[in-house]
Amino acid sequence: MSFASLGLSKPLLQTLDQLGYNKPTPVQAKAIPAILSGKDVIATAQTGTGKTASFTLPLLQHLTTGPKVKANRVRVLILTPTRELAIQVAASVATYGEALPLKSSVVFGGVKINPQMMSLRSGVDLLIATPGRLLDLYNKNALKFTQLECLVLDEADRMLELGFIKEIQKIIELLPKKRQNLLFSATFSDEIRLLAKSIFNNPVQIELSPRNSAATRVSHTAYEVDKSKKTALLSHMVRNRKWQQALVFTRTKKGADQLAKKLRADGISTSVIHGDKSQAVRIKALDDFKTNRVRLLVATDLAARGLDITGLPHVVNFDLPKVAEDYIHRIGRTGRAGAEGEAISLVSADEVKLLSAIENLIRQTLVRETEIGFVPSHSVPLTQLSSQPRKPKRAKKPKRR
Ligand code: AMP
Repeated sequence: MSFASLGLSKPLLQTLDQLGYNKPTPVQAKAIPAILSGKDVIATAQTGTGKTASFTLPLLQHLTTGPKVKANRVRVLILTPTRELAIQVAASVATYGEALPLKSSVVFGGVKINPQMMSLRSGVDLLIATPGRLLDLYNKNALKFTQLECLVLDEADRMLELGFIKEIQKIIELLPKKRQNLLFSATFSDEIRLLAKSIFNNPVQIELSPRNSAATRVSHTAYEVDKSKKTALLSHMVRNRKWQQALVFTRTKKGADQLAKKLRADGISTSVIHGDKSQAVRIKALDDFKTNRVRLLVATDLAARGLDITGLPHVVNFDLPKVAEDYIHRIGRTGRAGAEGEAISLVSADEVKLLSAIENLIRQTLVRETEIGFVPSHSVPLTQLSSQPRKPKRAKKPKRR
């Protein structure tokens, strides 16, 4: 199948050709014709499947026809859960729409609002926004939705996880009733189902991988290791396997900072990205990583959402995620666009329950491995750990009266 057969226009086909995109990915093959025909679409597609192009390309094409956008108006609104994803989608819009005379803008919180208000003054065809900042701009009269034709909810599952449901509902109330709706989500929870039910009009449903399945072509391995030896094991892996680029997840911001400090002290160039870092620092960290100025990027789940790092070979779960679904999001960073990837989990004794929750969710057992040349001082095989009886709690001493 070719992009031309999906009904895309010449300028877009030329851009895709220049980008070296030879054929549509599965989500693109299904979503592009449906969106071009004006239908509502719900797609279960993770980052790395080509989902951004699957909605951006047909929307850009749609925008080349129809009325000229008026001051402070917007024709297509793309809502994303995080600033990073907003920036990423905006970059895709700029790339795919290079040959088209369209105006787009991106707005998100944590930076000054005035330049964003200015950018909306003469109206934009396509606006990418995080929910909170969008409402701020609306409340300041910088935005009106009277010309809105299409709403896209990107990474809808993450938006709900981050507690944006109220903002989303508020935004939807402000939009014209007659519009096209598109929803993209890596997973499809009951909450998403309910949200979709409240917005959609007989949507086309696109489900590419079985529900809650992790990206394919990614090998999943678990290494048993004492908590105190995790940093040493990670350093060993980076050196021993001559990794040039790996994304490492920690559960907490403090943990991310501490790990990066230790890795740097060990001579491994490392950047950190988490919610307490300023936007400028986050952008620089990501840029340093993407351009190979640092080998490792240590991130928390929230900050890593939406990062587009093409062809990332290794993702390391330094800490297992508390919520099993985050495992799927984390490893969505590797094995992208059909490339092979490796998801490595460093599992300590206290994380065995989290490991089995992940295995239940992805319906797959992580392959247990040991790192050649790395001898942890005392570790217990994971197989034994899972059946270890818990220590009985000590009975409290009765209080003296
Ligand atoms: P996404 O799932 O939107 O984050 O896209 C993942 C990556 O795949 C991005 O880096 C895109 O540039 C790339 N990509 C998207 N569609 C195609 C395609 N049809 N052929 C090759 N690469 C693609």
